[in-house]
Amino acid sequence: MNSRSERKKESPEYAKMSHATAISLGLMRGRMYRGAVNRCVNLLVHYPEGCAANCAYCGLAKKRPGTYRDKSFIHVDWPLFSMDRIIDAVNRAPGYVKRTCISMITNGKCRSATMEMTRRLSKETSLPISILIAPTILGRKDLEDLKESGADKIGVALDLATPELFDRYRGSGVGGPHKWDRYMDTLRAALEIFQPSPDIFRHPNVGVHLMVGMGESEQQMVLLMERIRHMGAVNHLFSFFAEKGSRLADRPQPPWSTYLRIQLARYLLEEGLAESGDMRFDSEDRIIGFGIAPDLLDSIIEHGKAFMTTGCLGPDGEVACNRPFGNCLPDTRQWNYPYPPNKEETALIRRHIFDIS
Ligand code: SF4
Repeated sequence: MNSRSERKKESPEYAKMSHATAISLGLMRGRMYRGAVNRCVNLLVHYPEGCAANCAYCGLAKKRPGTYRDKSFIHVDWPLFSMDRIIDAVNRAPGYVKRTCISMITNGKCRSATMEMTRRLSKETSLPISILIAPTILGRKDLEDLKESGADKIGVALDLATPELFDRYRGSGVGGPHKWDRYMDTLRAALEIFQPSPDIFRHPNVGVHLMVGMGESEQQMVLLMERIRHMGAVNHLFSFFAEKGSRLADRPQPPWSTYLRIQLARYLLEEGLAESGDMRFDSEDRIIGFGIAPDLLDSIIEHGKAFMTTGCLGPDGEVACNRPFGNCLPDTRQWNYPYPPNKEETALIRRHIFDIS
């Protein structure tokens, strides 16, 4: 493809789509481990010049070597399709597909393109629409316009557990434009504009993405999840998983046991079964007690839901954004199960959740 035709292929006429989504929609061939399916149409706004930010862990970071077109995002290629083709495929999607999500990037053109894509999807398809927003380029009025255009849920990728880590990996530490305070202000504005729906049990319409494994302690992550919960948003967990060629390419994933403990703590906080003050932490701030009765703890582990991916819900009240294998390789040990863990997997979780490494 020459650079001229490439230049024309940008949003809002075109968008990138996750590999798993392209398989679900029949636009690419492939099968997933244990028959996992992707219940969300995950789209990414696209411009040949890419994203202006430089987050240290992100495959799309400006200073990561390679052309923007060839950069992966969350480890997989995101093939480019026209919006006409995407809309046609969404209208023929299997019944398990329950939502569309548009991920923004930090590019000045992204604001109006996202509005336009949202308007088209809302008019021409029947799936509800989430926007994973780019707070650095959005104001309150933009959030109102996104709602007006047809979006019903908002995701804010805060990612880091403390303002210091945020600044180190997304702000001044990497010459990037992002600021913690701006993200928190945008989160507050989103909560005011996208109030909980009266249907699905007043479930929040704003979610915060948090990434485990960036140098935070388990206690710091628990305290932030609790704070976000009290603000009225819901927490969605991700695990750091090095993106090839990124600044943090050599950094390991967080220990599986750490991730499992934080997932379980998130579940207890969100379900109102425990608070951070009920939990016990060791001298390195790792969780050593969840503050609930052992038999209840046992049945929650057995049930497995705490270890499944969380993300925006579909109209059926179930998680639509299940991101299969978005932050680990397919295996019995997963940092977010896209389906209920089976007996072998829950036994493995039970054996490892209290490992201290
Ligand atoms: S949870 Fe999924 S659907 Fe919701 S905003 Fe985040 S990426 Fe989009």
